[in-house]
Amino acid sequence: MDDDKLTPKQKSGYTQHQKARQRYELKPRHCAFCYERLPYEKRHNKFCDQHCAASQIEALLVNREHALKFALVAGR
Ligand SMILES: [Zn+2]
Repeated sequence: MDDDKLTPKQKSGYTQHQKARQRYELKPRHCAFCYERLPYEKRHNKFCDQHCAASQIEALLVNREHALKFALVAGR
């Protein structure tokens, strides 16, 4: 990409984006499931990919099943 072809407005937007990215790199977000560092593009995501999102939901469901079983046992 040729920076000289950008208008001053585009240029400032571009550098602001670069700054935001640099700031993000200092304190990146991590996947809620595998704790993999999320890339800047996915900074609003909770998970790095669909697999982790699905795994997390599955884990929650399993935990709930365990909790239900425990409640049944405790209730006896
Ligand atoms: Zn992940």
